[in-house]
Amino acid sequence: MSVLDARTIAQVEKEALNVLEEFQIDSLPVEPTGLAKCKGYRVEYRDLSEENFRGVLSDRKIAIDSTIESSSMKRFIVAHELGHGVLGHGTSGYYNESSEYDVPCSEREAMANLFARALLMPKHYLQKAVEIFKSKDGNSSYSSCEEYLSDIFGVTERRVRDRLEECELGI
Ligand SMILES: [Zn+2]
Repeated sequence: MSVLDARTIAQVEKEALNVLEEFQIDSLPVEPTGLAKCKGYRVEYRDLSEENFRGVLSDRKIAIDSTIESSSMKRFIVAHELGHGVLGHGTSGYYNESSEYDVPCSEREAMANLFARALLMPKHYLQKAVEIFKSKDGNSSYSSCEEYLSDIFGVTERRVRDRLEECELGI
């Protein structure tokens, strides 16, 4: 699934953890916009749909497509662009995922996506949340564990599934 080698994966996971530790993040959901600001990035919303971008990083500024309605998606894109910044990728764009060029195949895109997942879904919290859901064993208002995790981490269920898989937290 991943185009990244084990060393790169470990490095990206560490960078995300460093940001969480630097700002002593200990509650959920993680707020990527606040973290981006703490790291010295300005976050602004404008209509990028014409250019077919969902998010753009330039210098110390992150622009997010204001036409995106899902807050989970917006949060992910902020975290993704912050990833490019923290990982030293410089200027970069996030291509509109609804286009036919859906799959981010380049190494840098895969790294930024991994950074975003690791930032928004820290492994130790994910592990704990899965255990909590399992302990409720059916007496939950959620229809699935993915739905529950999606709600508490503020990400889409698709991102939850990707993260569970890479953390080897099969449910
Ligand atoms: Zn990107």
